[in-house]
Amino acid sequence: MPLNTGSEYEFDYESRIMDSGFSAEDAENENSLRPKCIEDYVGQEKVKENLSVFIAAAKERGDNLDHVLLHGPPGLGKTTLSMIIAEELGVNLKVTSGPAIEKSRDLAALLTTLGRNDILFIDEIHRLPRQVEEVLYSAMEDYALDLMMGKGPAARSIRIPLKPFTLIGATTRAGQLSSPLRDRFGMLFRLEMYTPEELGQIVTRSAGILGIDISREGALEIASRSRGTPRIANRLLKRVRDFAQIIGDGVIDRAIADRALGSLDIDELGLDSTDRRMLTAIIKHFGGGPVGLETLAAVTGEEAVTLEDVYEPYLLQLGFINRTPRGRCATAGAYRHLGLVAPKGTAEQTKFFDD
Ligand code: ADP
Repeated sequence: MPLNTGSEYEFDYESRIMDSGFSAEDAENENSLRPKCIEDYVGQEKVKENLSVFIAAAKERGDNLDHVLLHGPPGLGKTTLSMIIAEELGVNLKVTSGPAIEKSRDLAALLTTLGRNDILFIDEIHRLPRQVEEVLYSAMEDYALDLMMGKGPAARSIRIPLKPFTLIGATTRAGQLSSPLRDRFGMLFRLEMYTPEELGQIVTRSAGILGIDISREGALEIASRSRGTPRIANRLLKRVRDFAQIIGDGVIDRAIADRALGSLDIDELGLDSTDRRMLTAIIKHFGGGPVGLETLAAVTGEEAVTLEDVYEPYLLQLGFINRTPRGRCATAGAYRHLGLVAPKGTAEQTKFFDD
């Protein structure tokens, strides 16, 4: 499914194994590994618990589900959860993305073909063009499209009624959503990174579907080096399988997983060479920080948006960086991880500043 049309994640992602963005290989494989029902959707217990109540209530009343905003880093299961919501409600789902909807009439074409209580899923909703976003307001609130026809003095506004529907918006940047748009969502859920145990369950399930022989320890080794992200766990599973097949007896155990991940330059915490470059740059070039994101991007040769959306969330989760209003700083944990001694006064822990 072309989920990332026009996405900033489109560039050279295929070559990056630890990048949680969507790649061509994922497109091929994700549909077979995507859980289809809520029982198979591992983790995110609080979100599932609340959603189950709202889904049951909407079904009982025969109403559409209130609009839902899902936020969190790429690869945590936002698209998958939307598909499950549609399945549980027994309605159709249309999938698109913010940058793919260029004009109000593109949005109108999508909304007018939705059936009663159907779902429209907009990935990267923070990248919706402003004039499209404004048309969405009345669609979400009144189930009507207010469109301007014609130009100049002859322009007139027409109102097209819509069937009640649910909008599910997904974003890696909740902070970039305008407040009129954010306020129109009845439910806001933040997806959290997964624990190694949860990712271990996901790896074991995926191995079962792909017919891969794997031990519990092998699954946990992959899980603990997958940056809390199911998409990465599934991708690593496939790479480790190749090693098991060529240098082992086809079975993934802890030793094979460790050797394969070491060869892929993924350390015991799941950091890859880009993470280490980013930390090393903050420490060695900027005395531990603060350093602005654009500067870091220039020094590491990455896009600022990639550092912010893909690399930073896990480094924050590990407590290795601090995001301050003046820029990024390395914590004492980051120095230790790189085998360096932190100067006196270096913060021990990540302090969170809300996005
Ligand atoms: P996002 O939309 O947040 O970028 P996706 O929903 O596309 O992420 O998830 C990426 C892949 O990770 C899915 O194809 C699925 O195989 C796997 N996945 C995500 N969340 C879960 C989960 N909770 N349980 C099991 N597998 C998951």
